[in-house]
Amino acid sequence: MATEYKNLINGKMIDTGEWLDVVNPANEQVIGKVPACGKDQLDDAVAAARAAFKTWKNTSFEERQAACMAISGAIKENADELFRLLTSEQGKPHEQAKGEIYGAAGMSAAQATLKLEDVISEDTDERLSRTRRVPVGVVGGIVPWNFPVMMAVQKIIPALMSGCTIVLKPSPFTPLTTLRIAELIADKVPAGTVNIITGEDLLGPMITEHPDIDKITFTGSTATGKKIMEGASGDLKRITLELGGNDASIVLPDANVEKVAEQLFWSSFSNAGQICVAAKRIYIHEDIYDELSEAIAEVARNVKVGDGSQQGTGVGPIQNKKQFDRVCELIEDAKDNGYKFLVGGEVDPSGSGYYVPITIMDNPPEDARIVAEEQFGPVMPLMKFSTEDEVIERANNSEYGLAGAVWTANPDKGVEIAEKLETGTVWVNEFLHLSPFTPFGGHKQSGFGAEYGLDGLKEFTYPQVITVKKDNVPA
Ligand code: NAD
Repeated sequence: MATEYKNLINGKMIDTGEWLDVVNPANEQVIGKVPACGKDQLDDAVAAARAAFKTWKNTSFEERQAACMAISGAIKENADELFRLLTSEQGKPHEQAKGEIYGAAGMSAAQATLKLEDVISEDTDERLSRTRRVPVGVVGGIVPWNFPVMMAVQKIIPALMSGCTIVLKPSPFTPLTTLRIAELIADKVPAGTVNIITGEDLLGPMITEHPDIDKITFTGSTATGKKIMEGASGDLKRITLELGGNDASIVLPDANVEKVAEQLFWSSFSNAGQICVAAKRIYIHEDIYDELSEAIAEVARNVKVGDGSQQGTGVGPIQNKKQFDRVCELIEDAKDNGYKFLVGGEVDPSGSGYYVPITIMDNPPEDARIVAEEQFGPVMPLMKFSTEDEVIERANNSEYGLAGAVWTANPDKGVEIAEKLETGTVWVNEFLHLSPFTPFGGHKQSGFGAEYGLDGLKEFTYPQVITVKKDNVPA
């Protein structure tokens, strides 16, 4: 029988008696069951968070840091068990799952050093004006299935560090590792400060519209982000939205083909392409297009697609059936339109597991669906460009604005181009690097607000200005 994982409400692990199945995408077997929560359990979790907020908001920086370090420690000490569980529910290969688990522990510890200091804007004989940051209250956190653990701590840690309490909802596709972490931290953080509940997608709008939640922090698709903004508008909840992307990588003619080919490959195909900041369109200068596209294709031919728990797997399955169907549809559309495939394109319908072969398209047109839409799968278009102005225009021609990259032997030129890209992050000669001390957020329809760094922490607070008129004391 599949293991039953419980929810964390008010310091206790609970279930509802009704369960949702969680499937391993590598073989479609049910590997766990999680509580199917509805309004009642949400109300309980919110009430616990509200009660805990009364005391948690008055805690010192050190108390908050200690709770966050306990979470970081619990993840690190149990990393071996957690990364295996993560692979079994999410699909990513063991090495990448290890990276997510240790990354989550490290990000948690690093973010637990962030402190929002008071700011004195006026200190004269007449007046003292001080801005302090106060916690917004109870936070609703909603996360997706591609990096379930990283995204969970990305919500929990800044909530706690700012003095807020949180009710977190994992994706119904990938709740297991998060619930195992819930069990590990249940007696390490004060009851009610962190609550983790599971349910179908429809639990999401209940959170967004809940009258006793003050802020929503969400990571997921742009379509859902828009619904959240709408749902949260009823009582003007604060919102942070980390949404989709269609990131462009630009490779200038001076880039060393041998040096960049493998990096470009992994910038697209890590986590089977299911990364918001994966390179989803790669523009290569025409002078090196043939040589570099062949070098990337050669890397691809040597990477094994398979069950992430098996040694040697580089690219795992797509995480769920719905996304698998979508990626297959994009491949079919490319075939129907006669676009050229450099590698892959043939999905094997026999057998179990949501496997899509590594697929690389050779210079499809700019309006191809595979170029214009976020694929979120192991399918990448390579495209030729001639001039800088042209490629900048093509890269910016998107409703998204999450991240991008420039690859060049001349870093100054890279920065010059980076400054012309309409995205929240641009890497020059690297990819997927995020820092706990640097704001991460999307421009345009890739997001609203930011996570990480002091900017991210501020989003869990209101500014409160206290002004004292020094020369008017009615004494
Ligand atoms: P999704 O929007 O379908 O679901 C995300 C979460 O929202 C899940 O927990 C889901 O249950 C919940 N949800 C669904 N409908 C809801 C509603 N109406 N109201 C409230 N909550 C609802 O996204 P997904 O398919 O799980 O994730 C993939 C998407 O996430 C991609 O577009 C990807 O680019 C994006 N993403 C963005 C970032 C980032 O930091 N910008 C990071 C990872 C993933």
